Amino acid sequence: MHELSIAESVVETVLDRTGGRHVTVVRLRVGKLSGVVTDSLQFCFELATAGTPLEGAELWIEEPAGRVHCRSCDREYARDDMILLCECGSADVEVVSGRELQLTSVEVV
Ligand SMILES: [Zn+2]
Repeated sequence: MHELSIAESVVETVLDRTGGRHVTVVRLRVGKLSGVVTDSLQFCFELATAGTPLEGAELWIEEPAGRVHCRSCDREYARDDMILLCECGSADVEVVSGRELQLTSVEVV
């Protein structure tokens, strides 16, 4: 389960940085092309935080849209799904942005 391992590593990183203080909010940036299911990540975050200083913390997820570049027709455009097929019919499409998975900030008490 991909989202559970992400949630666990987020919790580990936050615990590392906050030194066991009570955390109330965790903010993540999860690109729309990262393949991460945010509903599932929310659920896994609750599981991963149980019994830790992060228990009960809110997870705020920002989802920036993706941008892709087609090598065949040399166009760049926004894309919100993982179907990387250009309108020109080419599948030779690279992701320019939208795969980010970053912990942006936390709030501690
Ligand atoms: Zn194209």
